[in-house]
Amino acid sequence: MRVPFADLKAQYDSIKKEIDHAFGQVLASSSFIGGKFVAAFEQEFAAYLGTKHCIGCANGTDAIEILLHAFGIGEGDEVIVPALTWISTAEAVNNTGATPVFIDIHPDTYTIDPLLIAGKITARTKAIIPVHLFGQAADMEEITRVAHQHNLIVIEDCAQSHGALYKNKITGTLAHAATFSFYPGKNLGAYGDAGAMVTNDDRIAEKARMIANHGQKEKHDHRLIGRNSRLDGLQAAVLSVKLRYLDRWNEARVVHAALYNSLLHDLPVKKPVTVPDRKHVFHLYVIECGYRDARAKLLEKDGIQTAVHYPRPLPFTDAYKHLNIPEHEFPVSLAACSRILSLPMYAELDKEKITYTCSCLARHIHV
Ligand SMILES: *Cc1c(COP(=O)(O)O)cnc(C)c1O
Repeated sequence: MRVPFADLKAQYDSIKKEIDHAFGQVLASSSFIGGKFVAAFEQEFAAYLGTKHCIGCANGTDAIEILLHAFGIGEGDEVIVPALTWISTAEAVNNTGATPVFIDIHPDTYTIDPLLIAGKITARTKAIIPVHLFGQAADMEEITRVAHQHNLIVIEDCAQSHGALYKNKITGTLAHAATFSFYPGKNLGAYGDAGAMVTNDDRIAEKARMIANHGQKEKHDHRLIGRNSRLDGLQAAVLSVKLRYLDRWNEARVVHAALYNSLLHDLPVKKPVTVPDRKHVFHLYVIECGYRDARAKLLEKDGIQTAVHYPRPLPFTDAYKHLNIPEHEFPVSLAACSRILSLPMYAELDKEKITYTCSCLARHIHV
């Protein structure tokens, strides 16, 4: 049997009529950049989250950088980010001229460990960017508490958490502002690059919208030096169709995760820990096991695609090695990186594929 890691074609097949119709409408109206399809999606996504503003942009990395700019963060400032995340979270900080300050993760949720934040706050610290990694919310209450004590901005990186809940509140509404990526493989994905910024703050929303569109308030009224980072009509139209399915697809992921959990129950692997006050949307289903690389290779021979998110904590990638951070500063991230393995996860996955994956893994562990 072949079990792909993700299957975007299966998803397209399930909504083909609606997508093709939506594409046709955009083509017929030539609303390629901005326009009514972008405005409609921005409104729909803001309504889905319950935020006042949603501003579409080119991708989830730009979303972080633009929001940091909008909050006035740049040269000379420090921004706290988790050591284990996709590089965008830190890269966007560098690209504003500010410096990312890495914090180790909690071993169960893989999200930033809030108890370690206070120790890294300096006079230059301006913001914290928690990442709701793998689809589960970070410990927002503790993060908000430290942020409040030190007067810091909090921007949620929701690139992996569309629809995830924290104490019954949806991620993206738990801080000053939040960013989303709609990279095709995310829980809500476009058919190309796309992203968004959300906030209830009128001033930040206005500034972010200007920055993303050449600093313009109205056409040719350049109020500041901005950039070009816009959502296009085709992507917005795809996202409007898919947003209607997001909750259903997330539910399917939760059901698949429960089946994985029960089939892996007796194996010596660490299953994802779901904190009771959170709703995990399983962007990724990540286990931990020994001999990870060897087992991933054996699974590949069985036709099962797996992945590692991520092989190295960011401070130890070549991009950040100039910081000369000693390994002992990030023991939890380092230990996790040698053991984590992401198993196939997508809404269209089925019982047979999950059962086959778990029985192959059991066979490799027991020989
Ligand atoms: C995917 C991702 C991003 C950025 O997304 P792009 O749209 O690819 O720029 C940012 N942060 C995290 C945690 C991500 O997983």
